[in-house]
Amino acid sequence: MSLRENDPPAEAPALTRRKFLEAGSATLLAAAGLSATATAQQQAYRSPDHHTVPESQPAPLNAPLDAENPNSVFAPPTDAGGQPPFKYSFSLSHKRQEAGGWTRQVTVRDLPISRKMAGVQMRLIAGGVRELHWHVGAEWALMLTGSARITAVDQQGRSHVSDVHAGDLWIFPGGIPHSIQGLGPDGAEFLLVFDDGNFNEFETFLLTDWLHHTPPSVLAKNFGVPESTFANVPPKELFIFARELPRPLAEEQKQSEQGTGPVPHSFAFQPSQMKPTKTNPGGEVRIIDRSIWPATNIAAALVTLKPGGLRELHWHPNEDEWQYYVSGTGRMTVFAAGARARTMDFTAGDVGYIEKSAPHYIENTGTTDLVFIEVFPTPFYEDISLAEWLAHTPTRLVDQHLATGESFLTQISKKEAIIVPE
Ligand code: MN
Ligand code: MN
Repeated sequence: MSLRENDPPAEAPALTRRKFLEAGSATLLAAAGLSATATAQQQAYRSPDHHTVPESQPAPLNAPLDAENPNSVFAPPTDAGGQPPFKYSFSLSHKRQEAGGWTRQVTVRDLPISRKMAGVQMRLIAGGVRELHWHVGAEWALMLTGSARITAVDQQGRSHVSDVHAGDLWIFPGGIPHSIQGLGPDGAEFLLVFDDGNFNEFETFLLTDWLHHTPPSVLAKNFGVPESTFANVPPKELFIFARELPRPLAEEQKQSEQGTGPVPHSFAFQPSQMKPTKTNPGGEVRIIDRSIWPATNIAAALVTLKPGGLRELHWHPNEDEWQYYVSGTGRMTVFAAGARARTMDFTAGDVGYIEKSAPHYIENTGTTDLVFIEVFPTPFYEDISLAEWLAHTPTRLVDQHLATGESFLTQISKKEAIIVPE
């Protein structure tokens, strides 16, 4: 099936124009089926909350993008005001391609609201190395597919070498030097999140770049060896490059830990080994912060929403939230106070961003599970839900605001749901 056959919205404007030229009469045009094509177009784009039909889009448009963003094409009537965009797609980012893999990023320069966090997607082939490097901000990571070997050294020379697999996390605190290498059979693809909106993956402190910009006589003196030792240091950064696979894990761990031992708290974490924080008919959430992962200074929630499931209305009093949509489709409304609110649609590969204390929900609008992550530039996760706020406030007072009747208010669960339905 061609894209065109599969996509009524793209067809509608052209069809309408052709019919107009053929008919040469507005009356004939209406009779000949403009209303039918316009209706089909509107049906295709309408958000579930949009119950009026005053719009048509007769001019050419970006139909695939519109189809992905029904809540922008026809916003719910509850949306209002100038809330800036809080969505950007990695699909729009420049992809740097190298022999060992590729990478692309979404930063504050792409998504202006994302002042405190940035994200990177990276693919490494089997043997592909993300060069030994460090950066000012902390790096939190989620392995999306495949496997990789990570290495790091802490302030006391203690070593971390481990293999991470799909679903695993790692953390490299700011300034901690590290590397990532794709393993067999097909390397890895992963997501990196940084507690710095202005982060730039293309301007990190690289081992080769640094040594290339240090006088060879100083390198020789530093290590007490001849200058010729460094004759083959690459004249240009390696960044991402292809090499043979690493040696067996136990062997590399033993070698790296000589004299200092391993880091006291693992830089890697396996969410599959923990009990979900919450599981119910609406889905599942795992909240992972320093309370269960001592090495991390970045908190996260890994969320799966079943079709129809809702991440309940809530906000985070302590920090901004950076989101990545792993699979499925959903929508989110952010209320920004001052009568400003906007609803945007999300799909795999999209980034979302919510400023501290701005309330929001995420709804699965598709027919498959919606999987996304919430990441916070703080060691500890915090939230307040609408339901727990109302459940723990005198019911008379709340009823005086909302006129729902007190019996509804007394029935609200006294414990936070996180995901609904419960
Ligand atoms: Mn890094
Ligand atoms: Mn949230």
